[in-house]
Amino acid sequence: MAQPHIIVEIDEMRRHVLTATGQGRTVGVVPTMGALHDGHLSLVDRARAMCDVIVTTIFVNPTQFGPLEDLDRYPRTWDDDIRALTLHQCDYVFAPTRDAMFPATATTRIQPPAVASPLEGEHRPGHFSGVATVVLKLFQIIPADAAFFGEKDFQQCLVIEHMVRDLNLPIRLVGCPIIRESDGLAMSSRNRYLTADERRRALGLYQALLAARQLITDGESDVPEIERLANETLTRAGVDQIDYATVRHAETLEPIDRIIAPCVLLIAARVGSTRLIDNSRLA
Ligand code: AMP
Repeated sequence: MAQPHIIVEIDEMRRHVLTATGQGRTVGVVPTMGALHDGHLSLVDRARAMCDVIVTTIFVNPTQFGPLEDLDRYPRTWDDDIRALTLHQCDYVFAPTRDAMFPATATTRIQPPAVASPLEGEHRPGHFSGVATVVLKLFQIIPADAAFFGEKDFQQCLVIEHMVRDLNLPIRLVGCPIIRESDGLAMSSRNRYLTADERRRALGLYQALLAARQLITDGESDVPEIERLANETLTRAGVDQIDYATVRHAETLEPIDRIIAPCVLLIAARVGSTRLIDNSRLA
């Protein structure tokens, strides 16, 4: 099986994409920060099923990390990533240097849309500005037909959707379902930080999502009751800190009082020093 073509230079990447689209081939882009797992690879598979040419980007974006976050220890597993992308028939890997993407002279930043403000926006100030900026840059460098994002990062999907709409970006967004380990833990590059004990306690996020869904199946529609159960389940599982476990309108992320469609339960919690997020649609 052919290894993907690895491209570091911005201009070269753009040239390859323009050549492909000029020949009438459709291009799909899968933005990642590497340390690939089956969640990322499900996006590549989805892109492979929909597009002729697949570009996976591997770039640990410094602008989306806060000063006290894990930028320097973020996992880097280049050889394994390339092996996995070969198996999943990715055509190009775009892996620019940090200096090429964000030279000291490049000070422009995107102000993200209003959906970026609550939740992750409160707990990670500046995070979505960094995400929106890098995603817009990637869309400029890789003028693809479609871009593939995971619903694991539910708020990120909304931020990008709004940016694409607000700025009239000519790209189709495809949201892909959360891929989980066999016991339910949502796959994440950060799971590899967890010790065996933390790994057990991390299951609390999934247990809280399941408990909330069961309560609704049993007839509960009062949001504070559902949030109370989710918080209790997280605490009982032994997570170290709950940033939020909250039911929101799935399009606006506004708080709601009663279960109405569309809504989603979003959780962010710390286990040991690792911050994990997960979510589930409730209606
Ligand atoms: P990251 O490398 O963490 O920036 O993630 C790159 C892309 O993979 C994002 O669109 C994520 O939402 C997506 N992703 C990460 N984990 C999962 C998962 N468990 N299931 C589905 N998509 C995922």
